[in-house]
Order: sequence, then C-alpha cells, then structure tokens
Amino acid sequence: MGSDESKTDGMDFIRQIVADDLASGKHDTVVTRFPPEPNGYLHIGHAKSIVLNFGIAQEIPGGRCHLRFDDSNPETEDMEYVEAIQRDVRWLGFDWGRHLYFASDYFEKLYGFAISLIEIGKAYVCSLSEEEIRSHRGTVTQPGTDSPYRDRTVEENLDLFRRMRGGEFTDGEHVLRARIDMAASNMKMRDPLLYRIRHAPHYRTGDAWCIYPMYDFVHCLSDALEGISHSICTLEFENNRELYDWIIDNVPAPSKPRQYEFARLNLNYTVMSKRKLVELVEGGHVSGWDDPRLPTIAGLRRRGCTPESIRKFCDRIGVAKANSVVDVALLEHSIRDDLNTKAPRVMAVLDPLKVVIVNYPEGQVEELDAPYFPDDPPRMGTRRVPFSRELFIERGDFMEDPPKKFFRLGPGREVRLRWAYFITCVDVKKDERGNIVEVHCRYDPQTRGGDAPDGRRVKGTIHWVSAAHALTAEVRLYDRLFDDPTPDGGKEADFIRHLNPHSLDTADARVEPSLRDALPGDRFQFERTGYFIADAMDHTASRPVFNRIVPLRDSWAKIAGKK
Ligand code: ATP
Ligand code: MG
Repeated sequence: MGSDESKTDGMDFIRQIVADDLASGKHDTVVTRFPPEPNGYLHIGHAKSIVLNFGIAQEIPGGRCHLRFDDSNPETEDMEYVEAIQRDVRWLGFDWGRHLYFASDYFEKLYGFAISLIEIGKAYVCSLSEEEIRSHRGTVTQPGTDSPYRDRTVEENLDLFRRMRGGEFTDGEHVLRARIDMAASNMKMRDPLLYRIRHAPHYRTGDAWCIYPMYDFVHCLSDALEGISHSICTLEFENNRELYDWIIDNVPAPSKPRQYEFARLNLNYTVMSKRKLVELVEGGHVSGWDDPRLPTIAGLRRRGCTPESIRKFCDRIGVAKANSVVDVALLEHSIRDDLNTKAPRVMAVLDPLKVVIVNYPEGQVEELDAPYFPDDPPRMGTRRVPFSRELFIERGDFMEDPPKKFFRLGPGREVRLRWAYFITCVDVKKDERGNIVEVHCRYDPQTRGGDAPDGRRVKGTIHWVSAAHALTAEVRLYDRLFDDPTPDGGKEADFIRHLNPHSLDTADARVEPSLRDALPGDRFQFERTGYFIADAMDHTASRPVFNRIVPLRDSWAKIAGKK
C-alpha cells in the first residue's frame, strides 16, 4: 500500500507541505481545487483526489476548495457530465459553496495571456503539420529541431494568432507554441503547443471560439486566476510542472500557485480510465454509468455503498509519492466496516429449500420477536418474524451426506433456527431425478428462542423464513466486473476480454415479511449472506429488488489479521 512511509506526525506529505507553508508565513490559508474534465463520470480514483483537496481545505481555518471544470476540449465534454460530477461530489459529502468555476469562463483572459507571451517573443504561430511537429520533437536521448516558423516576428505572430481566432484557417493549419527550448531535456519544454484550431462547438461557449487552449496552458493559469495556493495533482503530471511554472512566470499572472504530485489510486480487478469506462458504457457491457459493478461514484452509490465508507477507504489508503495498486478487498472491507454498525439484520433465503416441521401443528403461526441489532437490542428494537410448519432454508445449509466439519443440517443432525427452535432432520424427499425437494424435521418445543433448557448444545445456527409469509424478492448478486486482477495490464484494447461472465447473478429470494416496509435506498444485513440495499430505481413494495452491496466474508480482515 505504501501509504505510511510518507507520513510524519500522522500527516501525509502534502499536509506537511501545507503546514510548513502556513508556519513560514508563505500562505495565510490554503486554497485547493478539484479540477475534473466533464468528459465522463467520476470514479473512486477521483474520490481520492476529492477527499484530499476538500479535506485539506476543511482542516485549515479559512481554507477553501474550488470545484473547477477543466473544460477546454470541445469534442468530448457535455453538460450531463457537469451535472453528474456535481451530484457525486455533493454525495461524497463535500461543498464548494460559491466556488464553482469553469475554465471555459477564462477563455478571453487566457487569450490575453497568450497575446502577452507573443508580445515578449515567448510564443509563436507554427505552421508545421501535426506529423511534422512530432518528428521535429526529437527523443529522450536526442534534441529536437527548431521549427522553421520559430523566428516569425512578433507582428506576424500577432496577426496570425488573431486570424486564427477569427476563423480564417482550417483545423490543423496553424498552432500557437511556447518558444522555450527544442533541446530541453524535459520533452514537455520543447516548444509545447498552447493553442490549436478546432472548428467545433463547445458545450458552454458554443461557436464563440474556434481556437482552444491546451491543458498545460489552461490548468496553471486557471489555478493562478483563482488564487490556488497548492495545486495538487497526480504523478503523471510531474514532468508538466516545469512548464506550469514557466507559463506562470512569463505572463502577468495574478498569483503563483505551486504544483504538488501524489500517487493516483489504482485498484485491482477494475479499470478507471474514463476512456475505458466510456467504452464499457457505450459498448453495452454494463447497464449505464451507475451500473453497480463499475468503480464510478454513481455505480458505488447504486450498489449501496455509503459516502462514509468511501471517505474511510480514502483515509486508509493514504497519500503517497509512489504509485501502487490497492486490493479491492480493502474497499470491500471499508464498506463492511461501515455497514456493520448501520445496517439492521434481517433474514432472507437466497436459494430456498423447503423444510417441513412434521411435529408442528398445521395452521399454527407464532410471531417471534427478533432484534434488528442483536449486539445492541434496544437500538431500533425488534420486529416480528412469523414461524410456521413450512419454512425455507438455504439450499447450501443442508447436505445429505455431510462431512464431519459441516455444522449445518443433515440427516439426524440438529441445528438452531435463528430466533426460533432447534430442529432435527428426520427425512429427505427427492424428485424422480434425485434432486432434494424437501427436508423433513422435528422441532423441540422446549427450545423456543434458541436455547435448550437441558443445556444441550448445537454447533450450527441457520437462517430461515416462513414459506407462507415470505415475500419473493429479486436479488442481484454482484461480483467483480473483471476476472483478471489487471484487466488493462496487457494490450490496450484487450480489457474487454477479461470481463467476468458471472459478474451479475440474479435470483428469486424469499425474504422475511418485515421487508414489506423497505424503501428504495434502505440497507440491511441479510444474516449470513451479505449487506443489501433496496434498489434505488427498481425496488417497489409489490416487486422488491435488493442489490448485494458486499458479501459478508471479509478476505481483507483475514489478510490484515495475519500480519
Ligand atoms: P482519464 O481517466 O481520462 O485520465 P482523469 O481521470 O485524469 O481522466 P480528470 O477529470 O482530468 O480525469 O481528473 C480530475 C482530477 O482527478 C485530476 O486532478 C486527477 O489528477 C484526479 N484523478 C484522476 N484519476 C485519479 C486517480 N486514479 N487517483 C487519484 N486522483 C485521480
Ligand atoms: Mg486527466
């Protein structure tokens, strides 16, 4: 995980930098920003950045964090994404107040900064083709070669750049480049592109512009215009920092933010690049951006995760300077850990097998009291669970020929029915093909509530529902979307091949009748099978639908416990 080595005094290295800057008087407070491009939905990796940027701002008196849409690319951006991103940041529990910004609102100012660079001879209009620019760039070991347009006069550059803006040229005919050094060891400094021509409408500025600034130009200057003190980004922008500083230093920028890089979150068994998420959604491999199998915030919400569990997960992984891959089991552990204290327990049988209690009077029904929180019964109190002659138990809780260590039901074996009675299996009924269709048991009326007055013990306790009273519910059992820990580790396009064909199983479960009152979004622990949520979109009282958020088995706790 590599989170701890960069911490001192329980502080990650970014917080340490901020603390030092406050102590030295370099800054009075902290201003951070979360700068998504609205070209897709947010994912759990973004959550790490959100929790870091908004978190730091909350911790420092007077601190604030901006939400800024980094929207300078007309081709892929959309209002749908702007709205989804705001919804997701809010749901995670963060508030930008009045500090909502759009880089596209700065287009005029950015244009002015470009003009000022041209005026001091530090930017020029280059008329090489995209291909030629690439071949002039050189390599890591070889310097690039100067563009033949590098020495255009300021007047000529100003004239051409104005005409670029005016729409006189076609896409790709000219670009504006910074005039730095074609032999710089940092390739990013070899006369990088600042503006390109794109005759494409922008989702916010419409047809107002046909030239659009490049990321490296937009980002640092947007930070400077907003007075960002610490511009926190992921490691792949490390080489961009030199250019970031160069641009700020060479234009009349109103402030001088500093960029710091931290390791992005990588999770196994999933993909996070927006391009790949778009491919999964648009290729119909998932049901939409909120498909519960996706690592998107919308997907995690639909699946039933709480915002607290995602924030807690982000705290646990920490903020480090070295890239690593986090085991998705840690995310699942954080979800369980949170739901454990929040989700009331109820009983649901996912794969029903009929049990007939042969010595229980026909037509009799007992209402048993069962606490919602067995470890803390007064909390939320109890609900009534009907018990009758015919029940359902989990098919997996019965074995006709069980091994010694199987502590559930088998011929001649006695188990406890949760909150009810001890039962002993006396017979097994099969269909003509030999499948078990019914298990016959006798109950011990002395054991009501689950204790034998003679002190007799049973090793197993199983859950059940009354057949006549249970509701039928659709349960959606989600598993990992990919069956490979690094689905995008091989050839780029190959990740689709690693889709897990069993990532979604649906079943008709029988659930206890108290769930009749469940509302969309209500979460429960179905005893022994997992945490579930009544689906926000599809659940109704007449057609209950529950998503499994996570199963109960916690492989992370086991891994962590072994250490
Ligand atoms: P793409 O997936 O196409 O690379 P992106 O995830 O970088 O896009 P942006 O909208 O540019 O999308 O990201 C907004 C912010 O979130 C950036 O500051 C970026 O550094 C941060 N971020 C993105 N992915 C991660 C991640 N996996 N872990 C931590 N931060 C991330
Ligand atoms: Mg990006």
